[in-house]
Amino acid sequence: MNYLSGSGQSRGYYFTILIIVANAILTTSCNTNKNPKAGTINPLPSAIATAETKPVPRDSTEDAADDPAIWVNFADPCASRIIGTDKKGGLAVYDLDGKELFYYNTGLMNNVDLRYRFPLNSDTIDIMAVSNRTDQSVDLYKVNQDGSLQIVHFKQLKSLLKEEVYGLCMYRSKVTGKFFVFVNDKNGVVEQWELFNNEHMVDGRIVRNLKLASQVEGMVADDDTGILYVGEEDKGIWIFNAEASGPVNGEFLPMSGEKDNNNIKFDVEGLAIYKMAGDSGYLIASSQGNNSYAVFNRQAPHTYIGSFKIVAGESTDGTEETDGLDVMNFDFGEKYPKGLIVIQDGHNKDNGTAAPQNFKIIRWDSIALKFNPSLEF
Ligand code: CA
Ligand code: CA
Ligand code: CA
Ligand code: CA
Ligand code: CA
Ligand code: CA
Ligand code: CA
Repeated sequence: MNYLSGSGQSRGYYFTILIIVANAILTTSCNTNKNPKAGTINPLPSAIATAETKPVPRDSTEDAADDPAIWVNFADPCASRIIGTDKKGGLAVYDLDGKELFYYNTGLMNNVDLRYRFPLNSDTIDIMAVSNRTDQSVDLYKVNQDGSLQIVHFKQLKSLLKEEVYGLCMYRSKVTGKFFVFVNDKNGVVEQWELFNNEHMVDGRIVRNLKLASQVEGMVADDDTGILYVGEEDKGIWIFNAEASGPVNGEFLPMSGEKDNNNIKFDVEGLAIYKMAGDSGYLIASSQGNNSYAVFNRQAPHTYIGSFKIVAGESTDGTEETDGLDVMNFDFGEKYPKGLIVIQDGHNKDNGTAAPQNFKIIRWDSIALKFNPSLEF
């Protein structure tokens, strides 16, 4: 889009530009950071994890834990759960203290996401989708009230992607009420599946494909705004219309790549949305190459706000080389009154010693308050 075209041109418009340019020159000359890109020489805001999950059952040298999903237990918020993928073997379910409650040897499970109240058999279920590399499929589970998982697919949704199934997210359309799963591969192809009932189970059909130029993984869909965000790992974040009937061309999110943002170092990995009233809140992206997390406004034009890190505290280590993350704005009780973020840690250390990978659990407000001005919660 050419921002100079259209009806906004006027003498006042050019005068405004002149002032902006003059200000930029003044600011630059007073700043020791001569780099014109965004970013700062000051350390990023940082917070400490409240808890961490039990490590996945692998070696400390294996890249195994990958992507989390937070499941809210609305009847008993403190009994909410974290589901984490172990891409070397299965699915783990943790409580909010990080204690492992269940582990399922279901295969090479890569990314996971969930939605509430999927209509099934004159009732509703909380439905979870996982990309399964053992079977090149999307598998569907019901999340039971205790957080245990139960297969609900009529048959595994066998992907037609040419490369292994990789990133995944879910979407519920406000327009049609339909539920969808997006799954992608390393060629940059995104498959969109529509879910439907089939003989008291859940089935799916492919309704659309999207194509990006290079490797993608992290994705998140915003049910309220109808946006699908896709992270192209060596480029930045793309915005798509999530509707099956929507256009297939994406729009690049400014400041989401290395080119115009000093605080981002590829790969761009996990994406998640902290939702607030209406369409306010934040989009959060893992900047894997510098162990940080970029925060954008959820509202268009999705302005970049800043980045943060999770550093070591007394009982937990920090997070590095993060793949997946998930965030939820919900009152989980006194430990997490304003919600929490779950972040995969590529280099877990327990008592200073390398340990298998796990997921860190962090109070949202402990991050928000480190920003100046504070992020909202
Ligand atoms: Ca990894
Ligand atoms: Ca996820
Ligand atoms: Ca990746
Ligand atoms: Ca990577
Ligand atoms: Ca991953
Ligand atoms: Ca760590
Ligand atoms: Ca640790």
